[in-house]
Amino acid sequence: MTKAPTIGPRIGVVSLGCPKALVDSERIITRLRSEGYQLSSSYEGADLVVVNTCGFLDSAKAESLDAIGEAISENGKVIVTGCLGKEESLIRDTHPKVLEVTGPHQYEAVVGAVHTHLPQLHDPKIDLVPEGGFRLTPRHYAYLKISEGCNNRCSFCIIPSIRGDLVSRPANAVLKEAESLVKAGVKELLVISQDTSAYGVDVKYAESKWKDRMVRAKFFDLCKELGDLGVWTRLHYVYPYPHVDDVVGLMAEGKILPYLDIPFQHASPTVLKAMRRPANQDKVLDRIKTWRGICPDLTIRSSFIVGFPGETEDDFETLLDFIEEAGIDRAGVFKYENVEGAPSRDLPDHVDQDDINERYDRFMEVQTTLAHARGQQMIGKTVDVINDGWDEDAEAYACRTKADAPEIDGVVYVDSEDEIADGAIFKVEIVGGEGHELVGTPA
Ligand code: SF4
Repeated sequence: MTKAPTIGPRIGVVSLGCPKALVDSERIITRLRSEGYQLSSSYEGADLVVVNTCGFLDSAKAESLDAIGEAISENGKVIVTGCLGKEESLIRDTHPKVLEVTGPHQYEAVVGAVHTHLPQLHDPKIDLVPEGGFRLTPRHYAYLKISEGCNNRCSFCIIPSIRGDLVSRPANAVLKEAESLVKAGVKELLVISQDTSAYGVDVKYAESKWKDRMVRAKFFDLCKELGDLGVWTRLHYVYPYPHVDDVVGLMAEGKILPYLDIPFQHASPTVLKAMRRPANQDKVLDRIKTWRGICPDLTIRSSFIVGFPGETEDDFETLLDFIEEAGIDRAGVFKYENVEGAPSRDLPDHVDQDDINERYDRFMEVQTTLAHARGQQMIGKTVDVINDGWDEDAEAYACRTKADAPEIDGVVYVDSEDEIADGAIFKVEIVGGEGHELVGTPA
């Protein structure tokens, strides 16, 4: 197939993995575009392909290796980056034709590799980058990464060994990026990191100058400033440390969305101990009660692992009781995977795969019942939603409430005679639907 005529060398980017990896891809793209490289959405239209990989779970590694193989057979010139880049020999053994391998966050190295294998023809007239950079998310929401790495050492997780210890960005750098995203039309900021509530611990909450004032690199201070930008701000990967109470106060004031994504992972004290989870988990139910007292509209999303080594039937039932008692509004569940390099591989009493599958199904059953009940409670209410765009299959606008993060939570389908712009925030009355898929009409 002949290549489309180009005004600059064309790069294809395949982005796998979590939102953090997506942000890395966006940075790479922004940098390359600023240098005059063009983007291609097809293998045949690209002069070279960058594959940003994920290496978190064995299944993600396999998916990454497949993606590299596909890029090589469809295009031929491939640079690999991202979490799986830590395992260069695995990549080179599987795909000897790969041009270069770099690890996570090595933007400079990726860009350097692109320069080596695909030097650009400089043309200052085509090097313009729009304000806010290039994003892979829709125009109206964006992920805002506030730190890299993690100081915790959860036994099932290899992220600290891949990404290193916590490195927080200066508060003014985060705020500058947030402000330029808002100026570029972003209506919702999704704050991400590995451990959002630990922000700034590594730099001892260092102050930096933002506008006419000094701002500390501290979870509360950053949230307060973000809350003043006048857009929806949603917090992901928060741990239940006591100082989170203050941020819930900002939610009650309407500064930050009343939404907390807290990866509890389990509720049984023995399993949590074996998992080496951060924050004092004994008082979690009390803490949640306090938060709901401060901000009754609070939505709590969480993720859980079933079948962790040593998990007994009693432990599992403790988990099921917890999601009901704590009123976890949105729950994701994963079957335990024996990730290579994770300390949990060496724990005794691994759970039989049939039991893991059975517990997963039971969890899903409870979760579906809870989701259904939550959905029913919404009917008749009038709530704010943000429009994510027209959904061809549903023949309606796919919108989200403040209680729903993109990609992972629920949707409200809105039928409207009038055209609704992407990212528009407006009121709807919920008139029907089930579980995480509701139906609304503009109020
Ligand atoms: S908090 Fe635990 S699970 Fe999350 S990145 Fe850090 S070590 Fe991994």
